[in-house]
Amino acid sequence: MLYSPSRIFFGENALTKAELYLIRLGTKPLIVTGKSSAKLSGALDELIPILKKAEQDYAIFDRVQENPSWDIVREGARFLKDAQCNYLIAIGGGSPIDAAKAMALITANNLFEEENLTPDKFSQTLPLVAIPTTAGTGSEVTQYSVLTDTSTGIKAGFGTELAFPTLAICNPRYTLSLNATITLHTAIDAFSHLLEGIFSNKRQLLLYPLIQAGIEAIMKNLEIALNSPNNLQARTKLMQAALYGGITIAQTGTTLQHSLGYPLTTHFGISHGLSNAIVLRQVMEFYYPYIKEELDILFSNLDITREDFENWLDRFPLKAEFDLSEEFIESHIAEVLASRNMANTPIKVKEEDIRKIYKSLK
Ligand code: NAP
Ligand code: FE
Repeated sequence: MLYSPSRIFFGENALTKAELYLIRLGTKPLIVTGKSSAKLSGALDELIPILKKAEQDYAIFDRVQENPSWDIVREGARFLKDAQCNYLIAIGGGSPIDAAKAMALITANNLFEEENLTPDKFSQTLPLVAIPTTAGTGSEVTQYSVLTDTSTGIKAGFGTELAFPTLAICNPRYTLSLNATITLHTAIDAFSHLLEGIFSNKRQLLLYPLIQAGIEAIMKNLEIALNSPNNLQARTKLMQAALYGGITIAQTGTTLQHSLGYPLTTHFGISHGLSNAIVLRQVMEFYYPYIKEELDILFSNLDITREDFENWLDRFPLKAEFDLSEEFIESHIAEVLASRNMANTPIKVKEEDIRKIYKSLK
């Protein structure tokens, strides 16, 4: 079973093609973004004339930071209510898109005072347009919102079908302004999603063509995009791969790899994509005996060996300096085991497995 309800517009004229669908979603949008991506990507400059032509007033909430917190989401929801907006347009990477999903749900369900925001409290939402400016998370087509709880320092969030964006407007041009580091880290996040679509115990044959096409697109185009940042063809392939990754994890969820990566982000400030990259090899090693057949078919279809695959990864600067103390490891094992993603792992993961993987990173 595949469920992917967001209406997707892809390509250079995506916003123009989506225009009539967008302006029908309400009368006053709240544009949710970070400090610079909406402007740098060029997406805001294309959007404003469309809203003006439709005579729609709008408000902008541009305070979403990387790895957004519940606090900023609550602040944004109150802003949305005060500005009397009735739909949302998120412009940016996964951070603004995830924050906008939660802001829409808090507002539509009048949960401004609610401390414990769990999906069972959500029965409706506001329409959301997602305009990605990174090629990574695939959040524009997922039901997930990954948020950090600042009181516990845990990155978790929620998933609910109500959070699927109504429209996903994907123009690869918006990613031309990404620097090499963000291009690399976000592409590896997409790469992780595609691989985790195979790792997951919810893997399904229907997704394999998408997974394979996405992995191939990243392996062939990541280096090109890093060496020639303005190469639109390579950027297009990376954005397609991110979209395929999003459609994939919307069905399969992510796995141990994301669970192991979250504490590296919250404690050491390592970006989401790089955290995934740091544990990718170990997680593949760990899962390999259990899903050997699937992975071998993937490598064979890509006409590579597992060794070629690892050599390809080695070509990129995917390392970070951080002090992984015994204390850190012991205090995060329970957090990793308790994360939502663990429901999707193909085998039972034990405390000792997590300890071993983290220790191998030292
Ligand atoms: P991000 O945190 O949204 O953005 C990273 C940085 O890139 C920010 O500084 C941002 O600037 C900048 N940026 C974005 N687009 C740009 C552009 N076109 N030109 C120049 N700079 C640009 O990065 P992300 O990797 O896309 O999102 C990561 C978040 O998504 C994490 O919290 C992760 O856990 C989550 N995630 C969600 C899902 C899901 O299904 N919902 C899946 C995987 C990951 P600004 O400060 O202006 O924004
Ligand atoms: Fe991710």
